[in-house]
Amino acid sequence: MIIVIKKDSSEKQVKNLISWIESQDLRVHVSTGEYNTVIGLIGDTSKIDADLIEGLDIVESIKKLSESYKKANRKFHPDDTVIDIGGGVKIGGGHFSIMAGPCSVESKEQLTSIATSVKESGATVLRGGAFKPRTSPYDFQGLKAEGIQLLLEAKKQTGLPIVTEIMNINHLDLFENVDIIQVGARNMQNFDLLKELGGTKKPILLKRGLANTLKELLMSAEYIMAGGNENIILCERGIRSFDTFTRNTLDLSAVPMLKEYTHLPVIVDPSHATGISRLVKPMSLAATAAGADGLIIEVHNDPVHALCDGAQSLTPAQFKEVADKVFKLRKVIKD
Ligand code: PEP
Ligand code: MN
Repeated sequence: MIIVIKKDSSEKQVKNLISWIESQDLRVHVSTGEYNTVIGLIGDTSKIDADLIEGLDIVESIKKLSESYKKANRKFHPDDTVIDIGGGVKIGGGHFSIMAGPCSVESKEQLTSIATSVKESGATVLRGGAFKPRTSPYDFQGLKAEGIQLLLEAKKQTGLPIVTEIMNINHLDLFENVDIIQVGARNMQNFDLLKELGGTKKPILLKRGLANTLKELLMSAEYIMAGGNENIILCERGIRSFDTFTRNTLDLSAVPMLKEYTHLPVIVDPSHATGISRLVKPMSLAATAAGADGLIIEVHNDPVHALCDGAQSLTPAQFKEVADKVFKLRKVIKD
């Protein structure tokens, strides 16, 4: 249930109402927006007398909420969530960010050279996998703890905040100075992992699973939010379809659709969505036009010899071209 409070209500009146709701064994989620304060009720609301609440002086209206995701629901929190990543970088609510870097961290030289060039081209977050979820156990599995160390060094050198994937909650300590923890597509429904991340305060980049619905993506965000961490960035990264020309099928309608249902920022990963470097530019532009709050793009200094995902990786020069065009398009959209 959602209670919309009248604009001129006093803070004291609102506090009294919240205390009464909490005394009914319910939890509240308060969203103070530009126009209205909205109180979301979490828990079993069946015993609440809706008519009684609606009759209160300070209540403008009440709405019953049928969706099972509450905290992620835009009805609970009408304004866009803006996530402060640190280093002056924000995402959501009009703040747009490009995250870029290699699929996998391979060496100090590789990471430093990519980090420096993507920063110059306008990327505001450095990506790089240290723990890699590979289909084959014989493929490169990532530099693990050493990879995170190299990312931290690149962060120090460039000032770029970093995003990297967690696969096992036992590794959480290694992520202490990581700015955004990525939950990859394969772990979108690893509920134990999501619950544990709910107990942290770190921004989480939650990628859509290979064959998951948007509702399932929102429910996974809800797992993290239910634990108290509301700093979530959703990522559309392509889903499985019957087509084989592209690695996945980029579901761009996910962007405006998710934004209707949730206040969380939504970004797009055109690299994993297509698997083909020459498609990254058109899909980056399409995602930007569709209203994405950002992009995450794989960039490699030597894609042919990349240890992972070379075919979808852009060279630094190609990345510059894409970023320039995306920023131009953002200007047109804003005007
Ligand atoms: C990645 O970002 O490197 C990755 C493995 O992505 P996804 O989980 O979307 O496949
Ligand atoms: Mn990759």
